Amino acid sequence: MTKIYLALGTNLGNRLANLRDAINALAPDVTVLRESTVYETPPWGYTDQPAFLNMVVEAETSLHPRALLDFLKKREEELGRVKNFRYGPRHIDLDILFYDDLAYEDERLQIPHPRLHERAFVLVPLNDLAPNLVHPILGKDVKSLLSVVERDEIHPFSV
Ligand code: ADP
Ligand code: MG
Repeated sequence: MTKIYLALGTNLGNRLANLRDAINALAPDVTVLRESTVYETPPWGYTDQPAFLNMVVEAETSLHPRALLDFLKKREEELGRVKNFRYGPRHIDLDILFYDDLAYEDERLQIPHPRLHERAFVLVPLNDLAPNLVHPILGKDVKSLLSVVERDEIHPFSV
């Protein structure tokens, strides 16, 4: 079993239900051990879209990295398909942040996730679970990575 951290994001439909459905859809291949708080994040990148809910889960799996990516992509597709029209945007984004202390790169997959250290909406929930976790390439822990990003707009979400 390998310890992994996954980032979940959603900005369409019933966002809390999307996060819950995604967590439920991970079993039994991926066993969730701990969940961060859920945060609301203003839209980033393309800003003319609804706000996101973001969270991070700590989990374990026996899937190897590429099989884990395929598994997550399949879950994304299924969850999007249930409540969305054909060709509609995805309801859920599932990203691999860390896979133990592995550093890996091929044409489809990069671990650690290549943009995690720039993204407050990932670092804030990750810091809930693993502030002392050291990024295997950058050699810095999560709380140090978090200390240099702008986090003012990331707020705990309450219904
Ligand atoms: P993003 O997650 O950046 O919003 P996508 O979900 O569309 O964008 O991901 C685009 C591609 O990124 C995926 O199809 C996948 O092949 C690739 N990718 C590379 N590294 C990772 C990773 N660590 N976790 C998830 N996807 C990754
Ligand atoms: Mg993704």
